Amino acid sequence: MIPFNKPYLSGNELQYIGEAVQSGKISGNGVFTKKCQQFFEEKYGFRRCLLTTSCTDALEMAAILCDIQVGDEVIVPSYTFVSTANAFVLRGAKIVFADSSEENPNLDATKLASLITSKTKAIVVVHYAGIACDMDAIMAIAKKHQIYVIEDAAQAIDSFYKGRALGSIGHLSAFSFHETKNIISGEGGMLVINDERFEKRAEIIWEKGTNRSAFWRGEVDKYNWVDIGSSFLPSEVVAAYLYAQLENLEKIQARRKQIWDNYFTAFKALADKGKLKLPVIPVYATNNAHMFYLLTDSIEQRDALITYLKENKIYAVFHYISLHSSPFYQEKAREVSLPMSDYYSDCLVRLPLFYELSEADQQLIIEKIIAFYN
Ligand SMILES: *Cc1c(COP(=O)(O)O)cnc(C)c1O
Repeated sequence: MIPFNKPYLSGNELQYIGEAVQSGKISGNGVFTKKCQQFFEEKYGFRRCLLTTSCTDALEMAAILCDIQVGDEVIVPSYTFVSTANAFVLRGAKIVFADSSEENPNLDATKLASLITSKTKAIVVVHYAGIACDMDAIMAIAKKHQIYVIEDAAQAIDSFYKGRALGSIGHLSAFSFHETKNIISGEGGMLVINDERFEKRAEIIWEKGTNRSAFWRGEVDKYNWVDIGSSFLPSEVVAAYLYAQLENLEKIQARRKQIWDNYFTAFKALADKGKLKLPVIPVYATNNAHMFYLLTDSIEQRDALITYLKENKIYAVFHYISLHSSPFYQEKAREVSLPMSDYYSDCLVRLPLFYELSEADQQLIIEKIIAFYN
């Protein structure tokens, strides 16, 4: 079976884990954590980075930092992973679901203004497949209404909007290093703080509501419970793995883009004949090759394609049942109609894309898909 994903050891992972273990300090915020954070701050111009145990945790920190209270409204795309919404639900927010655009699964910025009320406190955008949302339009609306923008950049490492790194534009951003992403640490994530007003408090929330980080730096002579918080730091073992991946970021990205381009070129003829649809990358966005998807005509065709591939020992998947129609949210959500979100739920198929996918295996996947359509 060709798997959908396979975690990749890029080089120094095991060596660095060994170093972390032997250093005698394997709890969080040590040498490897700082190296990773510094890497991101320098390479992408993020103001301040804090590693977390997941993107979910980073989103939960963002919800605390935005001081979301019961009854506040938060705009979230319906076509996304649960954590994008759940992090804000935990603080009592009412989720207002946004539809995807026709061009791609990202939130439709042209419809955003109509979702804003006097209770709207934040907008969470998801750069689906690492392709940027229309950030200028979104930031302008947010500025006008004095609303926070949080980028769920879980899939968006090393991708750009008009030359600016994704994750550097919103007030806060969240990345994931889950094993299904481009750069991984098993489970892992990162909060990016671009608005300096959040900088001090973020560190406290990160360290269980204490000022321990300031204490380590010698800024205060004892550490205390000063705010709410939780245990959001990953251990140094996780950070060590991540740092080895970051050293190989260019290599990993280059290979993923090559695989992505191979798929795109191979399916161009089918797309030209109208048999399927391929991803559209807006002019303002780059492609970080997080994911290769194609769009079928219907849910029946999608299921038939996935089944056909499985019979041929290829594991392809669909994902994201629209959150507005999830069992958890259905009773709470007003009847909303989000046709584009439902369209991507029904018709999108993700193909295997991982560093070690061989040329031969990729060729087989391509041949089988072409055979299915013919
Ligand atoms: C993967 C993903 C998450 C969750 O990331 P974790 O690190 O597993 O918490 C959140 N949002 C999106 C869009 C994702 O793709």
